[in-house]
Amino acid sequence: MIFGIDDLPVRDELRGKSPYGAPQLDVPVRLNTNENPYRLPEELVERIAERVREAARDLNRYPDRDAVELRTRLAEYLTDTSGHEVGLANVWAANGSNEVLQQLLQTFGGPGRTAIGFEPSYSMHALISRGTGTGWISGPRNADFTIDVEAAVRAIAEHKPDVVFITTPNNPTGNAVPPETVLALYEAAQAAKPSMVVVDEAYIEFSHGDSLLPLIEGRPQLVVSRTMSKAFGAAGLRLGYLAAHPAVVDAVQLVRLPYHLSAVTQATALAALEHTDTLLKYVEQLKAERDRLVSELRALGFEVVESDANFVQFGRFDDSHAAWQKILDRGVLVRDNGIPGWLRVSAGTPEENDAFLDAVRDLTKEQS
Ligand code: PMP
Repeated sequence: MIFGIDDLPVRDELRGKSPYGAPQLDVPVRLNTNENPYRLPEELVERIAERVREAARDLNRYPDRDAVELRTRLAEYLTDTSGHEVGLANVWAANGSNEVLQQLLQTFGGPGRTAIGFEPSYSMHALISRGTGTGWISGPRNADFTIDVEAAVRAIAEHKPDVVFITTPNNPTGNAVPPETVLALYEAAQAAKPSMVVVDEAYIEFSHGDSLLPLIEGRPQLVVSRTMSKAFGAAGLRLGYLAAHPAVVDAVQLVRLPYHLSAVTQATALAALEHTDTLLKYVEQLKAERDRLVSELRALGFEVVESDANFVQFGRFDDSHAAWQKILDRGVLVRDNGIPGWLRVSAGTPEENDAFLDAVRDLTKEQS
């Protein structure tokens, strides 16, 4: 008999579960993980190499545990783009926003506590809850994937969760959550517990609307989580961050591992932040391509959820997995999130999007 995972004394709640697993397949057109399709510009690659070379000389030492320079630059970026003054004390950074979310759950969730999200939404909220021993509550959504405010408020009052997740723009559906909804859920969460409300803005730079960052003013239990993985085109860097009341930043210090952000990561992120304008210049192009995908998919007869992100959810398919496979057979990898009838495509370069649209056009021909 082969010794396997089931023979190990793995925690009960992890038994029989699957890890996060978007397929990493080697196909010509990969539009399945909401990455930015553009490679970093050469001038930035050079600047990263320079910064990392400098950092390498001091690798005998631990890095700045508090990442002060990096958090200062992130605070400047947030202030410049949101018009809301954010300082070093409001900002915390970690290895991807997944680690930010994990630290928040380690701090405010944990055994005997619960978190709620409104599904379908980003699957890692539930997975990180499980990984941190936090009970997960799946909250409701309307059929059009907007948050059903009344039902959500009721669910918060009933379950009194310790953490409330709101993803805006939502993944995988793409729609943004109006500020009034976030405020209503925040009020409900304060009345119920009071609980922490985490607004996951991983895709906010692609939105037609503004960041909800200014809402942290006067709301010490509201946290906005952001990432450099999407709009900055730096998914490989692994840099996420949050903005909140300074007390929240103090609280996550209790669970962060010492020196969690390597000197190489900090140097790379600092170089990238020197080139914010160059990196973000693709955002407008991607937004235009996203809008093109929405209108062309609609013209082909698909149902499409209004998107504020760099991806589009489209349907409906009798068998979405079979449709996913047919698109893949034409060399284009999209995402099957397991939502019956729907698939999700990330906005790529114009050529990649053309290849995707050709593939789905073939599908519609087959069906007619
Ligand atoms: N939040 C949402 C809504 C996401 O879709 C993702 C990535 N797919 C993340 C957070 C995590 O991104 P990262 O860890 O790369 O910052």
